[in-house]
Amino acid sequence: MSTGMSRAAAAEVPFPMLGGVLDEPELAVLGEVLRSGDRLSQGQWRDRFERAFADHVGARHALTVTSGTVALEMAVRLLDLQPGDEVIATPQTFQATVHALLGLPVTVRFCDIDANSLNIDVARMAELVTPRTRAVMLVHYGGLPAPMDEIMAITRPRGIVVVEDCAHALGASYRGRRPGALADIGCFSFHSSKTITTLGEGGMITFDRDDWAERVARIRGNDCDGVYRAATARFDEVPKALYPGLAHTHECVTVRDPGTNATMGEPAAAVGLVQLGRLAELSARRRHVAGVLDDHLRDRDDIRIQAVPPDVVHGRHLYTCFVEPGSGIDRNALIRSLEDLGVEMWLRYFPLHLLPEWRSRGHDFGECPTAERLWFGSQLNLPCHPALTDIHLERLVAALDKALAGARA
Ligand SMILES: *Cc1c(COP(=O)(O)O)cnc(C)c1O
Repeated sequence: MSTGMSRAAAAEVPFPMLGGVLDEPELAVLGEVLRSGDRLSQGQWRDRFERAFADHVGARHALTVTSGTVALEMAVRLLDLQPGDEVIATPQTFQATVHALLGLPVTVRFCDIDANSLNIDVARMAELVTPRTRAVMLVHYGGLPAPMDEIMAITRPRGIVVVEDCAHALGASYRGRRPGALADIGCFSFHSSKTITTLGEGGMITFDRDDWAERVARIRGNDCDGVYRAATARFDEVPKALYPGLAHTHECVTVRDPGTNATMGEPAAAVGLVQLGRLAELSARRRHVAGVLDDHLRDRDDIRIQAVPPDVVHGRHLYTCFVEPGSGIDRNALIRSLEDLGVEMWLRYFPLHLLPEWRSRGHDFGECPTAERLWFGSQLNLPCHPALTDIHLERLVAALDKALAGARA
């Protein structure tokens, strides 16, 4: 049984995988958790999943949260941004990468992207750095790792904190190391469309710093994140007539963040641990699907496939290719004919700086020309996930041939 496959059968070639790939091992561990009678919150499964995840990524700490979005919110809290600070961000990502910045009095500088990887363009990033730059928020787009050594060579000497949105990047690697340990903070999503899922929703934040681990554990555990000091020295300020015999021990001097409840329950964490154990299998299937599409499209002169540098492993959360300018193919018409042929098509993602919430803050067309040009006229995202069967793949490839032939005529 595979819930992923049965659900995927609904559309001819479905774009997202929303049922996950959950089979007997996940059912078995759920049975174990539920029959044990053990606690369902803050227990051993969460600890085991976090330890295994930290070891997998190569980070000192990994803390579960309830979604990738919350992991990114936690990352922004750790940045302690002050009014006037600047954050460099990619415009080519899901909006949650930068949503937590919306409520803050900081300046976001969207950095244009590389036309092959759709990751931030390092040369452009270097131009955007100013003395007020505090952080860079980037994504490993579609699972293709950003050039982190080049990025960190610019940011590290300046004390700029780099947040990797690794929502697509589980299963990827960069020069033998894993996303989530390539910069200062890593944020992962276990939404059902992602490489592994914790029963639909879930997330993880990774880093090396012990003080951050203590702080995130507090915030996600409904405990305010304050700096305490003994209040004994200030007992004199409390009117003795009002409070005779006062003997409290602590005073909260500053609260950096109120707490929230955002930790992962035991059933989800247990499934996450099992899914992590299946990561190699799930990623291999993604790479197989991408390999079939690459082989099919490689020799065409009207489509450009993504080049993958030899020192990285692509996580293949998204399969991206491009309609060549001058090929005579209308990208939007091509998408429509693929849809007519039963291929579910999503374009990921509308450039963030052009969304109303960012335009109302002064961002506009022309700010990231490559991201805009690709999104409006060139980029294609084709279905690519482990719930696609060989039959789906045959249909997809046949539909591509037909749609491309029609688009050229
Ligand atoms: C899925 C995703 C997120 C958000 O993760 P959720 O778990 O759905 O909150 C953030 N960034 C990117 C790039 C994503 O794809």
